[in-house]
Amino acid sequence: MTLALGAIADDYTGASDLANTLTRNGLRTIQTIGVPRDDLALPEADAVVVSLKSRSIPARDAVARAQAAERWLRGRGAAHVLFKVCSTFDSTDAGNIGPVMDALRADADEPIVLVTPAFPETGRTVYQGHLFVGHVPLNESPLKDHPLNPMHDANLVRVLARQSQGKVGLVDLATVAEGAGAIRTRLGELAGQGIHAAIADAVFARDLEALGQAALGCRVSVGASGLGLGLARALVAQRRVVGTEGASSQEVVGGFAACLAGSCSQATLAQIAAAERVMPVLRLNPDALMSADTEVARALAFARERLGNGPVLIASSASPDQVVAVQAAHGREAAGYAIEQAMAAIAEGLVAAGVRRLVVAGGETSGAVVDRLRLPAFVVGAEIAPGVPVLRTAGTDRAMWLALKSGNFGGPDFFSDALRLMP
Ligand code: ADP
Repeated sequence: MTLALGAIADDYTGASDLANTLTRNGLRTIQTIGVPRDDLALPEADAVVVSLKSRSIPARDAVARAQAAERWLRGRGAAHVLFKVCSTFDSTDAGNIGPVMDALRADADEPIVLVTPAFPETGRTVYQGHLFVGHVPLNESPLKDHPLNPMHDANLVRVLARQSQGKVGLVDLATVAEGAGAIRTRLGELAGQGIHAAIADAVFARDLEALGQAALGCRVSVGASGLGLGLARALVAQRRVVGTEGASSQEVVGGFAACLAGSCSQATLAQIAAAERVMPVLRLNPDALMSADTEVARALAFARERLGNGPVLIASSASPDQVVAVQAAHGREAAGYAIEQAMAAIAEGLVAAGVRRLVVAGGETSGAVVDRLRLPAFVVGAEIAPGVPVLRTAGTDRAMWLALKSGNFGGPDFFSDALRLMP
């Protein structure tokens, strides 16, 4: 395998989002769960996105994991490695964006790294180094109240400088608008001043294309799916990839089909209600799930009785006031973790019962399920809803289709829409 592009993502759903963007922009893309074993046999691909869970762990560990992923990607020929972060730059002064960036820059022996979380089509723009979420600066957006990484400063030059060992500069919009050549010249000037990272402005999709072209001239970059889009389009334009044209994602897997919902988002609650009209739905008792075994067994008995007749849906999801009550009784983190693990146990039981097409709603829930099923990698297939592709297992004998969606993604018929794309 000779990769045109390698990527390291700091969380699983962010990795899927990037893998989907790369696929939609013409790259045959594989998403791996963690750093693959050296002997893992994967299909040919243009890009591999290694999914880590490193956004909120100690910086030292995040660096070590990213470097292991980088070694694997470089070993498969990746000339360029993108470190994929959240488009709202989720991080703290302790990291982990700056420390990982510093380590990857040193490993790549590059004087300077281009950094941008911009993705205009999803409302993330950067101007004069300031990140906007929709109409408001980052520090006025809901991210100011994020439970793990509250973002109180929209000036990313300052934010990144607090995390990095090196100095941070800016490639401003006027330079970006002049194109890839001007961006590269500016990066060279900044590097000459001893600056090791540059936040790049981007307000329009065409800015991402110029940044992608410029970034390809270096061995490493840092960005969100927007920069992934720019890199993918630049690689396609330079004919450095085989591409997805003519690729088929309709391979028949067969087996039973099931859906699991652990997300309590508005969108997911509406999707469960819609599914109730077309498939049997079991609503779990969250209190009983806290002492997992009996409720898990009840869910699996429910499924086994019905799977032969068509898909089933099993949901822990509840309305906001019910969630508050469960969290008050058991503690927020303990409740979340216990329910995720119960959903993972149900997924394991479903697969043992013959389920080979599985739809999971909820970012954390999806992570727990994928870890439990020990699935090493996926080939990214057709798009069910914006940002959510179907995934076909790779590097394992267990042929399965999966769909993993976080919170608010997908239309009202998401579960049926997903299953329709899983032959
Ligand atoms: P989303 O993508 O919508 O954020 P996640 O799966 O990431 O969904 O997060 C949902 C969290 O809520 C998980 O930790 C899950 O275990 C937890 N959860 C699910 N159902 C309930 C419930 N009924 N009460 C409390 N917490 C729940």
